[in-house]
Amino acid sequence: MQDFIYTGLPARVIFGSGTTARLAGEATLLGMKRPLVLTTPHQAALGEQVYPVLGTHGCAGLYSNATMHTPVEVTEDAMTVYAEKGADGVVSVGGGSTIGLGKAIALRTDAPHLVMPTSYAGSEMSPIIGQTQEGRKTTERTLAVLPETVIYDVDHTLNLPPVMTVTSGMNAIAHAVEALYAEEANPVLSLMAEDGIAKMVHALARVSKAPKDVAARSDALYGAWLCAVCLGSGGVALHHKLCHVLGGTFDLPHAETHTIVLPHALAYNAPAVPEAMEALRRATGSDMPAAALFDLAQSGGAPTALSDIGMLEDGIDRAVQITLENPYFNPRALEAEVLRALLRNAWAGIRPAC
Ligand code: NAD
Repeated sequence: MQDFIYTGLPARVIFGSGTTARLAGEATLLGMKRPLVLTTPHQAALGEQVYPVLGTHGCAGLYSNATMHTPVEVTEDAMTVYAEKGADGVVSVGGGSTIGLGKAIALRTDAPHLVMPTSYAGSEMSPIIGQTQEGRKTTERTLAVLPETVIYDVDHTLNLPPVMTVTSGMNAIAHAVEALYAEEANPVLSLMAEDGIAKMVHALARVSKAPKDVAARSDALYGAWLCAVCLGSGGVALHHKLCHVLGGTFDLPHAETHTIVLPHALAYNAPAVPEAMEALRRATGSDMPAAALFDLAQSGGAPTALSDIGMLEDGIDRAVQITLENPYFNPRALEAEVLRALLRNAWAGIRPAC
């Protein structure tokens, strides 16, 4: 066995169906007496269902204006409400956008943060926060934003729309794929990554036939958690770099961009990472994992071409240039011409051949 470093991050995780009933007890364990519940406008009704669980004396109310990419103006508005209501903690109920707002408040107040994830994006297990000010998104890694407690309640994922289920699931898979070959790769995370990918891949096929199948949704959420641990404790490589460049430069949607780029970034790295490819063959049940991931997205009705989500072809050269200006670690050397071909294929939605 090779030498390795594994960094485990502290978090209390409650997983199951009906686990929302544990919310008040978990909030009390964190010392919260008046937590503020956070949601997006779209999930305000879920927030209204959740906050009475905290008890009328134990909740500062609901702030339902969480917004994609954590704009600083929204955080400042939420901070005003937080102070006015005398809140002493935050409960984020939602996907990455809502969790981002909870992290932004925790960063500014040192408040305890409890998360109930409703998508598979994985922010709940990461010490990473991205914030946007005057159109510029900056990302910071600090344990100050790592949520203390995460309650996974499968019931809150039963209504995740079908296409978002697939794109969010692919976003999760991307974290685990890159953990297998990132600079920080280690045998413990590789175990989690392989199982996380296997659970998610097989669950997505079942969920697409029966979206409210609790057992399949439970496997998907469990897989998402394992993949989220890979994001929080592991590292990333070319795939995440490309998604950050494409999202930041062309304002492309987060989960869809991950879904489209992943098969191509994996095909690019495949020749350099034989052990990771072996794990991915086992996890996907396919001799061609990159093509299998492309097929999974396509059969679930997700977009498979960057041209489908608003990127113009003349952006390809710019994306290659920005990627090479400040590259992340990658197991295969980055060559401009090969990257251009990768992005051309991703732009056109061509199935990777590896
Ligand atoms: P999202 O949180 O923006 O959710 C998209 C929409 O779907 C929202 O309107 C949301 O309310 C709704 N939604 C979420 N769950 C639902 C459900 N179960 N049923 C119905 N509607 C639901 O999307 P996301 O993909 O979860 O998160 C994307 C954001 O999170 C991006 O800004 C990304 O940068 C960030 N992110 C951060 C990290 C990190 O580690 N910091 C990790 C992953 C994603």
